[in-house]
Amino acid sequence: MNDVLTQFLEKIQRRNPAEPEFLQAVTEVAESLLPFIDQHLIYRDQKILERIVEPERVIIFRVPWLNDKGEVEVNRGFRVQMNSAIGPYKGGLRFHPSVTLSVLKFLAFEQVFKNSLTGLPMGGGKGGSDFDPKNRSDNEVMKFCQSFMTELYRHVGADIDIPAGDIGVGKREIGYLFGQYKRIKGEFSGVLTGKGYEWGGSLIRPEATGYGLVYFVEEILKTRGDSLSGKKVLISGSGNVAQYTAEKCIAKGAKVLTMSDSDGFIYDPDGLNVEKLQFIINLKEKERGRISEYANKFKCGYFKGERPWKIKCDIALPNATQNELDGNDAATLIDNGCFCVAEGANMPCTREAVAAFHKAEIFYAPGKAANAGGVAVSGLEMSQNSLRFSWTRDEVDNKLREIMKQIHRICLKYGKEKNGHVNYEKGANIGGFVKIAESMLAQGLV
Ligand code: NDP
Repeated sequence: MNDVLTQFLEKIQRRNPAEPEFLQAVTEVAESLLPFIDQHLIYRDQKILERIVEPERVIIFRVPWLNDKGEVEVNRGFRVQMNSAIGPYKGGLRFHPSVTLSVLKFLAFEQVFKNSLTGLPMGGGKGGSDFDPKNRSDNEVMKFCQSFMTELYRHVGADIDIPAGDIGVGKREIGYLFGQYKRIKGEFSGVLTGKGYEWGGSLIRPEATGYGLVYFVEEILKTRGDSLSGKKVLISGSGNVAQYTAEKCIAKGAKVLTMSDSDGFIYDPDGLNVEKLQFIINLKEKERGRISEYANKFKCGYFKGERPWKIKCDIALPNATQNELDGNDAATLIDNGCFCVAEGANMPCTREAVAAFHKAEIFYAPGKAANAGGVAVSGLEMSQNSLRFSWTRDEVDNKLREIMKQIHRICLKYGKEKNGHVNYEKGANIGGFVKIAESMLAQGLV
């Protein structure tokens, strides 16, 4: 099997040079899928995995725009349309200077499996730009979004490809993108999710990834008759996912000790409460300030340039970005008694970190399962747009909770090892794959 894996990965590397994040994501999936495919020869003979790793389409485009000083700026825009076997392409847009084709291909690839796990009819895609909205005026962000959509509109649509937010793309950016699409196309349709509630968005969509992550962790804890109450939790990030993860953890009685941004992390040994969290939400959403201001306000520790993983905890929830938790961090977490790591971000743990979690047999929930709540409620937003109807907060929240429970059941089905340990990574990869593979077989060689 190792030979098969090596040959497979060598081919991926040859065909996609200088794409380390994409190779990392494919390696992770191939390691658990190839033994499964070996037992299902139709998947092997029809080269299903070889087809899934090849995007159906990649669009790269120039995004020229004028800044507030009247100067011309040029960014690069991308949309990776990875797989449409089970529905129209669906996945977020990321605006961050670190965006490259490799990053977006890894995210689009992960998205294919994640969307399949939700049980909703959504294919996988991802897009974005190396534009950095930080320290830009609203006017500059609007100008950029309008130029970006002036090209992207040709490739998306409510039944074709439905982008959403991701890092650097929140309600403000979705609003500007939607406005420009509507203006060019002359139609009001569900082409984007993450819209404001007043103009077609879904209740609970902003909260969905964070809430869904916590619901998933609750399902994990239930397998050992446990709950979140009193658990010490580390969270990284202070953006959309991190904020609502913290809110739900606090509501469940857990002690949230840390949050972070790209400059460093705060450590509050008393734990965050609702008021303290509100300070962070205002800081990040309104003032667009830095997390260090929390430490000044509440007189607690601030660790500049560091990540939170050295703090003693029960549960770690990496919620910022890819590869933010490495092998050394994993060893420290395990030594300190952490027994559960669940990814709110996409691929925040390096391969070395994941290997350490597997070896120690602690609970490790990969992002494609644990953070699927966001895209699940995006799917529910699409349903509500099609119905021209809005569900209540409780209706959406209950559906989200049920979807996270269902994803957990799928992970148990395919991930339970002979000794009883659950390999959530294997469970999520195989569980996500089967539905896509069967759909691709049914649709022929397209
Ligand atoms: P936001 O832009 O709202 O927040 C991102 C957070 O991560 C910020 O605190 C940011 O700090 C920090 N961050 C970003 N880049 C880096 C970096 N290179 N190093 C350290 N910290 C960094 O994004 P989201 O909360 O939406 O997304 C966070 C993660 O969750 C991403 O991996 C995303 O793909 C994933 N995800 C998001 C979903 C969603 O619904 N939004 C759904 C599923 C997954 P700073 O402010 O300093 O930049």
